[in-house]
Amino acid sequence: MQEQTQQVGKHRKHTTSQSAKGRVAFVAVATGAVSTAGAGGAAVAQTQAQSPEHSQVQPQSAVTEAAVEVDYQLTNNGVESEYVGGSSAPQILAIAEFKPVVNLGEQIAKTIEYNAERVQADLDNRGASVVKPAEGAFTSGYGPRWGTIHQGIDIANAVGTPILSVMDGTVIDSGPASGYGNWIRIQHTDGSISVYGHMETLDVAVGQTVRAGQKIAGMGNRGFSTGSHLHFEIHPAGMGPVDPLPWFAERGVTIA
Ligand SMILES: [Zn+2]
Repeated sequence: MQEQTQQVGKHRKHTTSQSAKGRVAFVAVATGAVSTAGAGGAAVAQTQAQSPEHSQVQPQSAVTEAAVEVDYQLTNNGVESEYVGGSSAPQILAIAEFKPVVNLGEQIAKTIEYNAERVQADLDNRGASVVKPAEGAFTSGYGPRWGTIHQGIDIANAVGTPILSVMDGTVIDSGPASGYGNWIRIQHTDGSISVYGHMETLDVAVGQTVRAGQKIAGMGNRGFSTGSHLHFEIHPAGMGPVDPLPWFAERGVTIA
C-alpha cells in the first residue's frame, strides 16, 4: 500500500502542471461497505485517497482501496480543476475492480526490446551499404605486379589512419598473417569477404559484428609493405579476389 501511495503522489505532482489536462480519480474498491459507491461512498473514498496515511495507520482488512489518477482531455474548455473536492472537484468514479499495473517494468522492457528489433529489421532491409575502407592516395591497383598477382588495391596514408569495414558483417580473422603483417577478414551478409592488411592496430576481434563504416583498425606498415598503407581485397561469395575498383564503382563508391 505504501508503494502504491508513492506512485500516486509522483503522478499527481507530474500532472498538476499540465493546464490542458484534468484528472479523474478512480477509487477502486474490492470489497466492503463503500463498494456501492453512492454519494456518501464517493466522499469516503475521496477522503481516504487524500489521506493515504490513514490506511497505513489503520489498515482495513475488509476494504481494499487504491486511488490512481489518469490524464484525460478536458471537455470544459481546458479549465483545470484542482482535486480539492466541492462543486468544482473532478468526477469521482467508483469501479468494482481495479487491477494495478504490477508488471509495468516488464512491459516497458518488452516494448524497448520490440523497438530494438524493429530498428534492426529496418537496418537489415536497407540493403548492402558500402563505404570506402580508408581515405588516402590510391597507390596500386589489382592485377599483375612484381611477377605475381596483386590481389587487391592499396590506399596509402599516415600510420593510424582509420580503416573502416566496407559493409556490415562479422569478423572472421583479426591478427597476424603472413605477408599481411596483421590482417582482418570480414564476412558480409551477402557472403562476400573483405580483407584488410598491414594494419598497425586492430580494433575488432573474431566473432564481432561490425557495421559499414565502423572503424576496425588503424593503418600501418606491417608485413610485406614499403610504407604505411591499406591493402584491401574483396572476395565475392564463393569466389577468389576480384578487382575492387569496379566492385566499388558498381556500389556507388569511387576509390580512384
Ligand atoms: Zn596491396
